[in-house]
Amino acid sequence: MPPKPKKVPMRMCVACREMKPKRDLLRVVVPAASGSNEAEYDPRGKTSGRGAYICRSEECLKKAAKTRALERALDCVLPERTLLALTKEAAERASE
Ligand SMILES: [Zn+2]
Repeated sequence: MPPKPKKVPMRMCVACREMKPKRDLLRVVVPAASGSNEAEYDPRGKTSGRGAYICRSEECLKKAAKTRALERALDCVLPERTLLALTKEAAERASE
């Protein structure tokens, strides 16, 4: 059997609307188990619930904060701590 080409899963960033490989994006999820409407940063991408993706870039995070793209995509509340966690993650990647 010929080896199957590995498909890179692609997801859309809610801020710039570009399709990117999943690993280049940050996942935000409203955990199904939490019973609240608050979005959390999901570093492992494994939490079940309504999820959305955003670029690992401060530019897209700023844009999303301004336009409330994540809130609208997920119909959720985006707490300050989630935005901070995402911003920190983007900043860490940028300085690599
Ligand atoms: Zn983006």
